[in-house]
Amino acid sequence: MIESRVTTNSPEDTMALGRRIGQALRSRVGGAAVCLSGDLGAGKTVFVKGLAAAFGIPEREVGSASFIVIAEYETTPRFVHVDLYRIEYSSDLDELGLWEYIGDDAVVVIEWAERLAEQPRNAVQIYLESLSETEREIRIRDEDHWDNQQAAS
Ligand code: ADP
Ligand code: MG
Repeated sequence: MIESRVTTNSPEDTMALGRRIGQALRSRVGGAAVCLSGDLGAGKTVFVKGLAAAFGIPEREVGSASFIVIAEYETTPRFVHVDLYRIEYSSDLDELGLWEYIGDDAVVVIEWAERLAEQPRNAVQIYLESLSETEREIRIRDEDHWDNQQAAS
């Protein structure tokens, strides 16, 4: 298990952090779920742009269309961005087929993950908090980290 706490001072910093984590997740066997929580404007989508960049996905393709709940990118492994901001009832998640992505080899990133009635197992948890106009505290909790290091060695 790895737990860390970082303060970023700009959107670029937050993206760069996302990119580093994305690079690590790309090679994780069996895919990964990433749950992001934090208030509106905390920087979740900015962070996802960084994660996506590690998969070669251009920044402008992430998070722009306001009614898309699940965006799937044909990368290797597959990158799936879920934004539950507009979801009101957790039963919608079954209808959207979210559970089918998780556990397939994909890296599934979920904004507003706290709105899920049931949490994915072994997810990387990312909490973002605004400290000021430009500062964000980002906490990362990854229970699976050690197991994956073991598997790789
Ligand atoms: P969320 O998805 O959590 O609602 P967004 O990522 O859409 O938030 O927006 C974050 C906003 O905060 C953007 O306008 C971004 O430019 C701004 N911002 C300022 N400082 C930072 C920082 N250190 N990290 C991330 N975003 C920041
Ligand atoms: Mg967002």
